[in-house]
Formats: sequence, structure tokens, C-alpha cells
Amino acid sequence: MDASERGKLLFKLADLVERDSAYLATLESLDSGKPFLPCFFVDLQGIIKTFRYYAGWADKIHGSTIPIDGEFFTLTRHEPIGVCGQIIPWNFPLVMTAWKLGPALSCGNTVVLKPAEQTPLTCLYLGALIKEAGFPPGVVNILPGYGPTAGAAISSHMGIDKVAFTGSTEVGKLIQEAAGKSNLKRVTLELGGKSPNIIFADADFELALEQAHQGVFFNNGQCCTAGSRIFVEEPIYDEFVRRSVERAQRRKVGNPFDPTTEHGPQVSEEQQRRVLELIQSGITEGAKLECGGKAPPTKGFFVEPTVFSNVKDHMRIAKEEIFGPVQQIMKFKTIEEVIERANNTEYGLAAAVFTRDISKAMTISAAVQAGTVWINCYNAMSCQCPFGGFKMSGNGRELGEIGLKEYTELKTITMKMSGKTS
Ligand code: ADP
Repeated sequence: MDASERGKLLFKLADLVERDSAYLATLESLDSGKPFLPCFFVDLQGIIKTFRYYAGWADKIHGSTIPIDGEFFTLTRHEPIGVCGQIIPWNFPLVMTAWKLGPALSCGNTVVLKPAEQTPLTCLYLGALIKEAGFPPGVVNILPGYGPTAGAAISSHMGIDKVAFTGSTEVGKLIQEAAGKSNLKRVTLELGGKSPNIIFADADFELALEQAHQGVFFNNGQCCTAGSRIFVEEPIYDEFVRRSVERAQRRKVGNPFDPTTEHGPQVSEEQQRRVLELIQSGITEGAKLECGGKAPPTKGFFVEPTVFSNVKDHMRIAKEEIFGPVQQIMKFKTIEEVIERANNTEYGLAAAVFTRDISKAMTISAAVQAGTVWINCYNAMSCQCPFGGFKMSGNGRELGEIGLKEYTELKTITMKMSGKTS
């Protein structure tokens, strides 16, 4: 297919998602428990933009000519990799689907995409829209199934040329191993995080407070970027804890379809149990439970917005990804100390710093080992910006122009010239 035709199909898909965005957000909310309004205004709008962004790229993916030594003419081509396996998590089912389908289709690949077993509905509906948009049969194959069977089959399949995965670090390792043991398919991984959010005493206090709150509690705390280690400079620590508790207690928990709800249930009983178990470990290891900590007596897999103070770096709640509504607030005294502690983790997905001092902001930004750094904001993401992790938070980048590179093979073509051309 001509590249511009691929672009046209992706634009058409974006239009169809826009047409049905209220339905898709309803389905997503029903399936995952995420509050409807942010799902409609954040997730769906982001998905539409992502498809349009990569639609625009389709006929602008090209190589270069290279003046190599000798009587040769050299050029490069960015060719599609072939069949791409894509394995999707349950926390942002449709957003992650758009991040994966957009660049893969823009570059001319075909796809076998597996949604998470907890949340297959919106992906399946998107399949219907892909048909309606007019993509040729077989270009996108949506294959719901379980991880250890359908997911493992994708990562070890000899006919699949690349696998892109978003999920836990534990499963990411299995996928990389399966790729290595089978056909060395290309692997991109977007894995867990334990992101530091560093708040200096000179920051805009109200801004930092609200962003730190949203940075950990957004999407019911189920974000790989969650700013779950909040380092607060000593002079404002006590006040920051007090106000964070107040904010968490005001967070409106309830039915995801109630427009006043900020916070819905965890995705499954298994996740609820895991979050409660980690909260218990925090209490046992001596952190101070400031508020929350329990499952409210409501129907559904809810966990109360929870705040811990007096958290020490060695505690499990400071080291492990909780993937739930649990905020850890730690105290720091110097910039050197906080940099060392921020980097003392096997993860490296994101980080944030709140300060009015540009030099502190840039020092932290350069020193933290993280794929994304936010200054005076949190979770400010866009399909134009590369996203991915350092260290055990992953491998490769999604989004932006660089995201295209993960879906092409680069071919160098050199031709012998009959005589000198210049
Ligand atoms: P979580 O632990 O948060 O549920 P996972 O990393 O287990 O997240 O799941 C993310 C995605 O990975 C899901 O689509 C899931 O089915 C898939 N998955 C789980 N186990 C495997 C596996 N062994 N091989 C491939 N995919 C898997």
C-alpha cells in the first residue's frame, strides 16, 4: 500500500474513534473501573491525537543518501519490520493500544495485538472500527487471551518479527528471554517504575501539593509513572504531610460513572489484595499510616486513598511498585542526598522536581536516571514526546518521531558507480 494511503486509513480510524468516543470511554470505564470523565477527556482525546500524529508521519518516513568514500552511491531505507506482536496492560487499555498500533501501522507493519485479560472490551470494539476504516484484512489481528498462553505464544513465535510490551518488569524479563530463545525478535519494553517526585521548600506549595497528589492517585493509583516516592525538603515536610493527608481524605471515591467521582476501584480483586498487602508491610516496617489503608465497606475492589509519612528508603513501600492509591512521603535535607536517594532504585521511568530555582531544576533533571523528567508538573505527556525507561523500567522508546525507529528496519544500499560523479 502507498504510504499516503496508510496515513489516510489512520486518519479515518482517528475520526471513527472520535465519533464513538463517548461509547468507548463508557466501555473502558465499565471494564477497568477508571472514572468516566478523565477516561473521556484524557484517555480518549490522547488516543485520537496519537492516531492523527502517526497518520501524519506515514509518508514522511524516509532514509538518506550518504557520501561514502570511493565510487559508490549509498542510500538508506526504513522498511517495516514485518509482523509485530503487541502485548497490552490493563491500566490504560486503549491508550496503550493506540501507542502501539499508531507507529506500527504508520511504518507499514502488520500486527497481532493481545489486550490484557482483565480489559479486552475496548480493543475488540476498536477492531470493529479498524474494519470500518477499511484496513485490509489481516493487517490488524486482535487476539484476546491470557498472558502465559497467548502472550507467551507471541513472544516465542518464530513468525513474529518484533514484540512490544507494556506491563510488569517481571513479565518483561520473560518476554525478552522468550525472544532470545526463539528468533531474536526485536523487543521494546515499557515496564514498572518507582518514580521520585522531589519537592524543594522554595516551590509553589499549592501547585506541588496538588501535582504530587494527582501524580500518585491518578487512575486509581494504577500508573507506571506514578510519583510514588515523594521527597520533601525538611522545612516544609510537616506542613506538606498535613496538607497531603487533607487532600487525600477529600478525594472522592465512588462509582466511576458518577461525575463527581475522582477515584474508582482497583481493576481486580487480585490487585486490591496486593495493594492492601503492601500497605500492611508499610505499617509493619514502621512507616506512619496517616490516612486510609483499608478497603472501604463498599461493593467493588476499592482501596482508600492512603498516605504514609516517615517512610524510609529500605521499606518495601519505598522500593516496590504498589500500583495502587498509596502515597509515600519522605524527608530530605540536601540536593546531593536527594539525588542519590532518588536514583537508588532499579527503576528509571520518570521523575519530577518542584522548585522556583532554575538551577536546582536543571541539576536534578540532569542527575536523575529516568526517561522523563517533569519540572513543576506531573504526568504532562503528549504523543509528540518520546517516552520510555532507563534501567529496569524498559527498553526502547514509544511516541514521538523516535517511536517510529522501533517499527522499522534500516537497510543500507550501496551501488557501484561506473565513474566518478563529482
Ligand atoms: P500485571 O502484573 O500488572 O497484571 P502483567 O505484566 O502481568 O501485568 O500483564 C501485562 C500484559 O502481559 C497482559 O496482557 C498479560 O496478559 C501479559 N502477560 C502476562 N504474562 C505473560 C507472559 N508470560 N508472556 C507474555 N505476556 C504475558
